[in-house]
Amino acid sequence: MITDITAPIPYLAAMAKRIALTGNIGSGKTTVARLFQELGIPVFEADAVAKQLLVEDADLRRSVTAHFGPNAYDEQGDLNRAYLAKRIFSSEEDLNQLNALVHPAVTKAALTWHESQADAQAKLENNQFWYTLHEAAITLEIGQANAFDAIIVVTAPESVRLQRVMRRDGSTEAQVLARMARQWPEAQKVAAADYLIYNDGQHELWPQVESVHQQIKALP
Ligand code: ATP
Repeated sequence: MITDITAPIPYLAAMAKRIALTGNIGSGKTTVARLFQELGIPVFEADAVAKQLLVEDADLRRSVTAHFGPNAYDEQGDLNRAYLAKRIFSSEEDLNQLNALVHPAVTKAALTWHESQADAQAKLENNQFWYTLHEAAITLEIGQANAFDAIIVVTAPESVRLQRVMRRDGSTEAQVLARMARQWPEAQKVAAADYLIYNDGQHELWPQVESVHQQIKALP
């Protein structure tokens, strides 16, 4: 067989795996994502990007204003979070509508980002690029599991998550419980995981993260 050494190397974006990092509110996704970052794995923070796109993406702003009215943004052009939160908490249809507007924009941004990461890595020597992480709370709820090569779920008991979020956000128990009610039950999320990371305060995170990292690197 003749090998053409001038042939381009396979496009790295197609080789680099896309891994979802998900888990319910307060489970510790962001905390765990930081550890993967320390191992050199690029992380796409979907919830943060969604917030950014809602302000910066002109098409998305237009669609949100068309559905939710001019009150969706304040005079400075910032998202009127209080107004939108009120709408989506009182109407399932509004919640679904907002998701239907935001998630395609986030998915598009995530794919572009993933490819740019692969391209950047292709320029480095000693390429150590295996996968990117897509950190988001509701990947499973919005039916995106199939878009990823594997799913990592960070899990912790509800009582622990509740206390963490109340402390972090200064929210009341009722406010956090209302947000939890919009997410899948913990057991359903755990059942959908390819890899589980226990962040219950009893299990150390580093050994779990390193083990999952090695297993993902070894995926065919
Ligand atoms: P959300 O879905 O609300 O974005 P999350 O799953 O990303 O939450 P984090 O923000 O990582 O969760 O963690 C929630 C809070 O709990 C944070 O204040 C974090 O510092 C704290 N926390 C996370 N893991 C631990 C832990 N093992 N021990 C102590 N505190 C923790």
